[in-house]
Amino acid sequence: MEKGLISVDRWADGSQVYFLTHLHSDHTQGLSSTWAKGPLYCSPLTAKLFPFKFPNFGLSLLRPLHTNSWHSLSLISPSSASKTLLQVMLIDAHHCPGAVMFLFRGEFGCLLYTGDFRWEANSERAKRAKTMLIDALQGDVVDTLYLDNTYCNPSYVFPHRDIAAQQIVDIIASHPEHDVIIGIDTLGKEDLLLYISRALNVKIWVWPERLQTMHLLDFHDIFTTNTTLTRVRAVPRYSFNINTLEGLNSMRPTIGIMPSGLPWVLKSLEGDETLFGSLLTSRYNKRKWSANSGTGPDKLNGVERFHKYIYSVPYSDHSCYKEIQEFVELIQPTNMKGIMSSSSCYVDPLYYFGRFSRADQPSQRLHDQHESKEGGKRDLAFRGKSYLGSGDVLEAKRKRGGIAKVNILGVRLSRVSALRRFRRGAKIGECDCHD
Ligand SMILES: [Zn+2]
Repeated sequence: MEKGLISVDRWADGSQVYFLTHLHSDHTQGLSSTWAKGPLYCSPLTAKLFPFKFPNFGLSLLRPLHTNSWHSLSLISPSSASKTLLQVMLIDAHHCPGAVMFLFRGEFGCLLYTGDFRWEANSERAKRAKTMLIDALQGDVVDTLYLDNTYCNPSYVFPHRDIAAQQIVDIIASHPEHDVIIGIDTLGKEDLLLYISRALNVKIWVWPERLQTMHLLDFHDIFTTNTTLTRVRAVPRYSFNINTLEGLNSMRPTIGIMPSGLPWVLKSLEGDETLFGSLLTSRYNKRKWSANSGTGPDKLNGVERFHKYIYSVPYSDHSCYKEIQEFVELIQPTNMKGIMSSSSCYVDPLYYFGRFSRADQPSQRLHDQHESKEGGKRDLAFRGKSYLGSGDVLEAKRKRGGIAKVNILGVRLSRVSALRRFRRGAKIGECDCHD
């Protein structure tokens, strides 16, 4: 695709139309109430929530599109100054309220941008979305898949969300005399809170802004800002730390539960020298999940109590490695890129899933892309950086097995750093969607 047509989750100048997958803050960096660079397309639910996050935003720019049907947009080719037709379909990403994938079709070919997504094998919503995607493709090949690669590493093994939700219920039920705080973002994990509420017949406390969001989502009876009505409180993730829990425990016995796919859970906290040895021997390597393992003695697998007050439960709104693999096998794109590209934990999806792409030789494909980039072409603007800095370097590292070490080491270092901050009582996750 030529430069200057569309941007996804990226808000700089230079595109004719903009697309927002969902409202987590790591996808809206650069957006503001005064942003006015062009029409912004999103799902109807995101459009409903949008003014709450960006009050006074020019609503004439906000263009909600329904899922499950093609929408046509007429754009102008910057190079030829002629009209070019863009077709787009929104597909449920089952990540947080309003989150969608975008499937684009046009003269440039076919592109699929997943945004953040979780498609579990047992999810009816995911099955419907999968059917919608396959029907929409009608046998077309996805030329480039922009993939949620947050957990694109085989060490990320975690259960379906309903299993993890039951684990959390079990923890709360086993502490009948304790208050409970659960760390959440400004959007997402509503299904978890509803599950807890129904299973234990309790209301859930949320902070005032979060209650407004719950009301916008049409949840009116379950959530409250009155602390006397419940012992279960959902608190902002940034306020969930050891200092907070120690302070709370000086008044009342309280446990904290962090629902997260991140492996910042270690078996030992005795000295930094144990950190490296513990990371890959934690739940992610030692314990294997079964899709149906909701009951029995192993049902608390993956739950870690790494501080006397704190439990971590692998409840994630991102796909685990196996789900990402199943998705790539389903799509079989010609090329793919990860949308998650922070320097600390970027993992190249081609490294693990190149064999599922339609190009014959990964090295040739990387080489071709490098040539294409050198030739002045550019893909759509999207959140994240390209990993194609040098196809030659990448291929050389691949041959000697260096990529895996680099990537895994990158993830390790990131988690160690996060744990150290956590142990010092620092905030974990300054913005949304780090789970
Ligand atoms: Zn997200």
